[in-house]
Amino acid sequence: MKPILINNLEVAKSQGKLSGEISANDCKRLADMLSQGDSNTQSIQYALVGSVTKFHLPSLHLKIDTILSVICQRCLEPMPLALTLAHHYVVNESEPDGIEAGDDFDWVETSREMDLSALIEDELLMAVPLAPTHSHACKPTKQESGEKHNPFAVLKGLVK
Ligand SMILES: [Zn+2]
Repeated sequence: MKPILINNLEVAKSQGKLSGEISANDCKRLADMLSQGDSNTQSIQYALVGSVTKFHLPSLHLKIDTILSVICQRCLEPMPLALTLAHHYVVNESEPDGIEAGDDFDWVETSREMDLSALIEDELLMAVPLAPTHSHACKPTKQESGEKHNPFAVLKGLVK
């Protein structure tokens, strides 16, 4: 994949804005988790905004919007997975003192060549569930199909 290199401190301090689109098929690690039969370009929209006020430190705010085609682990058919992610990063030489990285933000090291596409891929890799399944009952689970052939249920029918 073509890296998107940014000077992260510069973008944050200048309150820069960056947006674009990358293809999930170009993200090698991510593509491994996706449905291979799907030839559609799985487009990932991103927008990055810099600010200096949010955490009183230069920071970056990343939004990712995509619909990926993953494999349902129940019926093994491709299924669409819509993801909308928002992440905040404080840009600093070292982990900032006094505030702890957590749910609100992550810390990224100051870099003149931070690869934005790798960051986007990392966030998506963490967001894709390990065993995605359709929200509807795409295939009876083992338990349900077991009930159908439950010998006692058949007996019950005979007794009536
Ligand atoms: Zn399914």
